[in-house]
Amino acid sequence: MTISSPSTRTHAVVIGCSLAGLLAARVLSEHFERVTIFERDPVEDHPASRRGQAQTRHLHGLLAHGFRILTRLFPNLDSQLIHGGATVSDMGEAIRWYHYDGYKVQFKSGLAAVSMSRVFLEWRIRQAVLALPNVSLRAPCPVTHLITHPDRTHVIGVAVASNTAQDQASPILADLVVQTGGRGATPGKWLAQIGFSGPSEDEISVGVGYATRLYRRRPTDLTGAKLVMISPTPPHQKHMAFVFPVEDDRWIVSAGGWLGDHPPTDDAGYREFLRNLPVADVFNVIQHAEPLSDVYTYKFHSSLRRRYERLTRFPEGYLVLGDAVASFNPIYGQGMTSAAMQADVLDSLLRQRVSLEGLWRSFFRKVAKVVDIPWQIAGCEDFRYPETQGRKPPMTDLLNAYLTRVHRATHHDSIVYLQFLRVMNLMASPTSLLHPRIIRRVLGRRSS
Ligand SMILES: Cc1cc2nc3c(=O)[nH]c(=O)nc-3n(C[C@H](O)[C@H](O)[C@H](O)COP(=O)(O)OP(=O)(O)OC[C@H]3O[C@@H](n4cnc5c(N)ncnc54)[C@H](O)[C@@H]3O)c2cc1C
Repeated sequence: MTISSPSTRTHAVVIGCSLAGLLAARVLSEHFERVTIFERDPVEDHPASRRGQAQTRHLHGLLAHGFRILTRLFPNLDSQLIHGGATVSDMGEAIRWYHYDGYKVQFKSGLAAVSMSRVFLEWRIRQAVLALPNVSLRAPCPVTHLITHPDRTHVIGVAVASNTAQDQASPILADLVVQTGGRGATPGKWLAQIGFSGPSEDEISVGVGYATRLYRRRPTDLTGAKLVMISPTPPHQKHMAFVFPVEDDRWIVSAGGWLGDHPPTDDAGYREFLRNLPVADVFNVIQHAEPLSDVYTYKFHSSLRRRYERLTRFPEGYLVLGDAVASFNPIYGQGMTSAAMQADVLDSLLRQRVSLEGLWRSFFRKVAKVVDIPWQIAGCEDFRYPETQGRKPPMTDLLNAYLTRVHRATHHDSIVYLQFLRVMNLMASPTSLLHPRIIRRVLGRRSS
């Protein structure tokens, strides 16, 4: 087996055809002659959830920064989404958000809120990626392991289980292999097979449970807002529910609870859960609405971050991206945007460099910076519950005491709320909430 020159960019392989894989393939298509995506599950040519990505049945909010990256990568995406029934509105105006014992002020923020089902978004992106002349998909076609050069320093391809004989692994050679197999991918095992150590892991246990149901949507169901979010005030409250409009005149409702305190899944129990939230806005939307699905559930045990940037040895020709690097408590809606930002990192590194040699080192270093912020935002909020387990960064309690006042200020102060939204949407650093202009506003009024 030969290693092609480190500057050869003939063929790139992507493992997994979910959102991170599609975004990786889109970016790689500009830098490689050919890109092949391998997906374990059958992939339908319509919006549909697959076994390997069961989370896609649940409500997915797309952060404004993620939407911005997606519309840069796919210039017609916004009009295609709207044409297909997505709702695009101003985030500050559109969301009725009950959070920390009050409603946030509604105002024009300039930030886009796009609402559609996760499967519809992915289907649109998949169509755009697979329309690229140099990208192809093989599915169902699981990758079984990495193939290395005999000196074991380079990944030079992957083995896949062929469609016809699952037990016959056939080698596919590539100059770069990008693992986007999601959180369930076992990168440590694959690395061990080729003589490398896997990354260390940070984990924050959150014990979140989702229960999601679709309902028919009528124009009169909700006035004065387009989306409703009810979030808890930790640590005494553990329940949340969001209702977002999705295509085909439907509502998607995701109810959730932290630390094992999960919503029931029977019809009566589900309704009761929504009725008993601190405010009735979600219940009011669904109480007379026709259910269009069962109640789907999802258990999310912990946020998980794999610290590839700390490795000192890693095979050349191999990268990991998306949930396989970091999966966050989904309630904060960060995963897709994090994947988009990581794909952006890959794109800019491939533009800057001629050689692929050492790419992994710069890539993981920059990806760690991308992941730091959502990881910090999600962890900080989750550590408000004393039962949460994991490595709690110093100053978290102090920061949270201040952020409680930020949350309460968002009930009446649109300038503080805008800055909070910018941070939440990964468009500004969390430290921007400590700018004297914001601190003055947050501390200037007595928090109720
Ligand atoms: C309940 C829940 C709600 C969420 N809500 C939000 C939200 O509101 N907003 C948000 O931005 N994010 C949300 N997320 C996160 C979001 O779903 C992910 O970040 C996003 O899907 C990107 O994941 P991924 O592509 O890295 O991996 P996945 O979506 O997990 O996909 C991995 C893919 O790889 C395939 N695969 C795995 N192994 C192999 C193999 N060996 N060979 C070939 N194929 C393979 C799988 O079949 C699958 O298709 C949520 C997650 C959960 C669990």
